[in-house]
Amino acid sequence: MRALSVRELLQVWEQGCSQSPTNRALTLLSVACPDIAMKELAELSIGQRDARLLSLREWTFGSHLVSVVNCPSCGDRLELNFSIADICTASEIPPPSTLSLKQEGYLVRFRLPNSCDVANATTQDAVIAQQQLLERCLVEALYKAEPYSLEQLPKGILDAVVEQMALADPQADVKFALTCPACQHAWKSVFDIVSYFWDELNVWAVRLLREVHVLASVYGWHETDSCI
Ligand SMILES: [Zn+2]
Repeated sequence: MRALSVRELLQVWEQGCSQSPTNRALTLLSVACPDIAMKELAELSIGQRDARLLSLREWTFGSHLVSVVNCPSCGDRLELNFSIADICTASEIPPPSTLSLKQEGYLVRFRLPNSCDVANATTQDAVIAQQQLLERCLVEALYKAEPYSLEQLPKGILDAVVEQMALADPQADVKFALTCPACQHAWKSVFDIVSYFWDELNVWAVRLLREVHVLASVYGWHETDSCI
């Protein structure tokens, strides 16, 4: 993987404007990793994908991040300052392609969710989306050696599968434990590198194009003179 040039960043931004967040992530990585096929990038676990996006973000805008969140209780505004290293959890060793859970007579074999799975989740409802992800990631489920469908598995087993997925791919689930200084409310805030990086790229691209437009107006440049 390599850093992107200004021209490439603008091309990614133009392409990503009409894309879903998942496809924006893949567009960024496909330009940064020209030797890796798009299918292979799309089949990286979400944690592996996000680890690459964190590196790319560091090479593009530096290692320092600032995020603003509102307290869900009183609405107070909190500014979070942190570094890429603070939230980087991925190990160099890729997670296994198939994981298994043995519990209470059940044997469940599954894989980690990837960008294809997320892109195919067709709903904004978090519970249904999780069900759809599990459906796609389930390899095999047995109870006392008899095949079981996802719908037949008890909630406790499904919760254990989700927990094992999170443990095996921790970079996919970055959360901050926060306490509001105004009302002392404590909660966990999810950090999503895809939306964070895209928002930064969007602000950067709009500002750059505005500056180029102003300079072009002042100096009488034409579009064909551009050397970005
Ligand atoms: Zn508060």
